[in-house]
Amino acid sequence: MQWNAIYGQDKAKQGLLNYYQSEHLPHAIMILGKEGTGGLALALALARYLLCEEKAADGTACSVCPACLKTENLVHPDLHLTFPSVPMKAGEKAMSKNNISEFRKFVHENPYGSVFDWLQFVGATSNQKGNISAEECRQMIETLSLKASEGAYKIQVIWRPEYLGKEGNILLKLIEEPPPNTVFLLVAESTDGVLDTILSRTQLVRLQPLGAEAVQSILMQHYSISERDAAQAAQIAEGNVAQGLGVLQQSEKDLLELLKQWFNGVFTFNGLLIGKWVELMDKTSKVQQKNFLLFAQQLLAHAFRIQLIPGYQPPLPEDELQFVRRLSTRNFSADTISSMDESISKAIYHIERNANAKIVLLHLSVSLQYTLKGTTLKAL
Ligand SMILES: [Zn+2]
Repeated sequence: MQWNAIYGQDKAKQGLLNYYQSEHLPHAIMILGKEGTGGLALALALARYLLCEEKAADGTACSVCPACLKTENLVHPDLHLTFPSVPMKAGEKAMSKNNISEFRKFVHENPYGSVFDWLQFVGATSNQKGNISAEECRQMIETLSLKASEGAYKIQVIWRPEYLGKEGNILLKLIEEPPPNTVFLLVAESTDGVLDTILSRTQLVRLQPLGAEAVQSILMQHYSISERDAAQAAQIAEGNVAQGLGVLQQSEKDLLELLKQWFNGVFTFNGLLIGKWVELMDKTSKVQQKNFLLFAQQLLAHAFRIQLIPGYQPPLPEDELQFVRRLSTRNFSADTISSMDESISKAIYHIERNANAKIVLLHLSVSLQYTLKGTTLKAL
């Protein structure tokens, strides 16, 4: 993972680089960011940089030295990886070293993946939640007490210290007083699940929520997804690359075409068109219905911003941009937009709770028509 391929985290990157350049790199760093914002990708990019033999000052590793070739494939002997594991065979212990070749493949394919994605990747059963065991902690102590074999640093990445549980206490002394040139990079999504005793011994580096543009770039660059699909998924990914990928997997129909059909019915008060659209939507999954409604909210918000902000350019593919521009010529009032947004949020709420999709979507369509007429419809 290359430093400049980490999008949307400039503040965290600069902070880490400053530590290194001022020779004050903390020996235990906790990279804290929500799912799908790139914590693991950033930790691996930093590890690669630290171990590179010909690094540039801006965080770029050379990509060609022997160390870079090894870190790229996560096989550098001074880069140690710990992550939630499950037993690969009956009778085998859940240890990172037993899952390591699978983990390398996983990170290569899905550097922004969640623990859920990882457990799916290794075929964990629904009651295998993944674990970082006491034995794994003792192994870490043993491994890190050996001298660095090649690099200037020994780096221990712990992906999701939340999975340590109270076993994490085994590591306290090591994290507090690690052997020389040892760096711990802990990657957490929430401080709630991390032991206070560990938290207090690490330097916290917070990730920013990702904007839709960053999610789109990541989907295109790291996952080779087309610009159009990446832009559409990024609109509804809520800053979470893993969610964006989920949207793409679930995507059964083109969201823009569905939205055109729906708004056509709503804005022209055409019950027949709305009825057809409801039938079509009813055949899609709950996830798709929710994604569609999030998409509708995003495009309405862009249309409203076009009305308000001269020269505003929504980061959208051409056909969506045209649609949003047409929508903006309706000159919605702030009240209309906020009421439409609220109605859509309510529909999402009901769909997530398994309400009958036909009823929810029909009610939503009629509510939007009432809003457009300037009246309100009784709550569902
Ligand atoms: Zn290098």
